[in-house]
Amino acid sequence: MGQQRFINIHTHHNPYDKQEVTAIRNVHASDPLPDNNSLFSSGLHPWKIKEGHIVEKLDHLNILAKQQQIAAIGECGLDKAIDTPFEIQLQIFEKQIELAKTYKLPLIIHCVRAYSEILAMRKKHPEGCWIIHGFDGNEVLAKQLISKAIHLSAGAALFNPKNKISHSIQHIPVSWLFFETDDQHTYSIHEIYKQASKLLGLNTEDLKAQIFRNFAAYFSNEKK
Ligand SMILES: [Zn+2]
Repeated sequence: MGQQRFINIHTHHNPYDKQEVTAIRNVHASDPLPDNNSLFSSGLHPWKIKEGHIVEKLDHLNILAKQQQIAAIGECGLDKAIDTPFEIQLQIFEKQIELAKTYKLPLIIHCVRAYSEILAMRKKHPEGCWIIHGFDGNEVLAKQLISKAIHLSAGAALFNPKNKISHSIQHIPVSWLFFETDDQHTYSIHEIYKQASKLLGLNTEDLKAQIFRNFAAYFSNEKK
């Protein structure tokens, strides 16, 4: 079997290893794309809502979404740990769900203590690929999300034996998984795959091949 690439589904950094890794780098909705040689996700993060200019940012996101390098919308989502009114977060999240639908792009979701609302939103918008990034919930929650066709992306928390994901990952079918480095620098995507392989009892090459298939199934405009 040929050497498959690592997929880093969500990072905030400039991807370093373009030979072996296909990474989706996150850029804020109002920022221009840093170069034309990478894949990006762009969205309006709930933490950024308080900065204002929402209409302009969503308009800009609409323009960005048409560009070839945009591989996903996000990260966007819901966060109950911040003081931005939840009703406003819901509205802005839904606008981005609709945008993802329009351009047939996967959606990368940030969720803090708002899983029941994510599930309710999914009921309303059952189509398209949704990915919860930085998933660190238990087995019951993982199964609930997967039953609604929501993918789960895990990252550095896999190294923390006290984190629920380091156990619940064993109950997530590999076909629903992705991996990410997010904003941390401690672990590379290679190390995260290696750790996940260990926890899943799989060899890294097999895991790589399956995650690559997941990616190929939902990210049709893969170019790098
Ligand atoms: Zn992130």
